[in-house]
Amino acid sequence: MEPRRAAQRDAQRGAGAERVAPRHVDRIAGARLQGGRVVDVDIVDGVVVAVTDAGTTPTRGGPTGGESVIDARGYMVLTAPAEPHAHLDKALSWGATRPPGCDLGAAIDAWRAYAATVDEDEIHARALAAARKLVANGTTAVRSHVDLHDDHDPLRGVRALVRVRDELAGVMDLQISVMVNEVDPSDRARAAIAAGADLIGGAPHISTDPVAETNRLVDLAEELDTGIDLHVDEFLDGDHAMLEVFTDRVATWPAGQIRTAGHCCRIGSLDGAGQSRAAGALSRADVGVVTLPITNLYLQGRAGCTSVPRGLPPVRALLETDVTVAAGADNVRDPFNPVGRSDATETAMLLIVAAHLDMDTAWQLVTGGAREVMGLPPAGPSPGLRADLLLVRAGGLDDVIADAPPDRIVLRAGCVVAEREVLVVVDPGVALLDDQAPTTHPRTPTYEETR
Ligand SMILES: [Zn+2]
Repeated sequence: MEPRRAAQRDAQRGAGAERVAPRHVDRIAGARLQGGRVVDVDIVDGVVVAVTDAGTTPTRGGPTGGESVIDARGYMVLTAPAEPHAHLDKALSWGATRPPGCDLGAAIDAWRAYAATVDEDEIHARALAAARKLVANGTTAVRSHVDLHDDHDPLRGVRALVRVRDELAGVMDLQISVMVNEVDPSDRARAAIAAGADLIGGAPHISTDPVAETNRLVDLAEELDTGIDLHVDEFLDGDHAMLEVFTDRVATWPAGQIRTAGHCCRIGSLDGAGQSRAAGALSRADVGVVTLPITNLYLQGRAGCTSVPRGLPPVRALLETDVTVAAGADNVRDPFNPVGRSDATETAMLLIVAAHLDMDTAWQLVTGGAREVMGLPPAGPSPGLRADLLLVRAGGLDDVIADAPPDRIVLRAGCVVAEREVLVVVDPGVALLDDQAPTTHPRTPTYEETR
């Protein structure tokens, strides 16, 4: 198949089927919290206002009050994930690009060659499909980087993502960070912000003068009064580390001005003292770190054949130094990573096996940690928090992360934005528990209940 058609086919596969109109919800009834308690969750104006033991409080409208209630028996209610580092403009292009190599340099070359052939509509179709996949799996907030193009139409990627942001305004929060390369004049970055990008981004470690490029990008963010989200030290060995140059520059920024360092692979290859220095610098500068396990496990360490490094920063050491840490998926089925399911449960799973985090911490990095790095208000099933919630048919967080159950209901600001239940084959040998008889949401027992 011709590459362009292959990319459009891949994009169309992810589109359409899961689209739903936002539907307001007043109460989630009978859902299980992360700690095991089964509760009713009341929502007003997009915010959780009460969490009470299931069945102990009447719905606010009374038994016939016409409230919109989700019968969530058999489901967990969790904070909806946020994706703090995506590349929606590149997503789902693997089929069209198929790079001959598998390291960062080969991926960059393959992407640039393909990007020169695509227009705004092609980028928009893939980006929209990738964003919908994220929502369908539970993610209600995304920060996406987007490339500038060094040709006749440098802003086509920015325009494509602004369209996606407008089209999905009712179902997700989308932040756009513009990737400024050293070949891009500063006026091009200014034009990108004027066209709707939110943040200055870039990857200064691949520049010929990384210090000068880091300073230029911070200068631009200060001039334009935006936040900044850089790809920082996405390599394992070398003398061009930019972490401290970056942290020194933003340490004096006012609280609340977003400063994010993605990747930070280099920290993971430092000795203990070096890691402590890096963690201290990040903490003092209030820089949020985003680790991207799936892409950096794929890209990094290909030169080694024994004791191959993992390409991740030392996440536990960073957390112990009070650094804000989030995790994301980065690239999804593009030259930088040919796989990925646009599902935060996949990132959480990788944090457990590759960063040695426990279940709760792994989930925190793809939910609360991600929202904090993105400067979003906290969300979750607690009074006062925004009702960005993921209902997933599971008995515990271990089921969620290990099994990635397909049955999910996704709420953003108290409205259902995605809903999916799969065809189930009922096993007549497994009896439903008395209080879990089939309801408006017919259910099968969770694995936990059948043990
Ligand atoms: Zn990236």
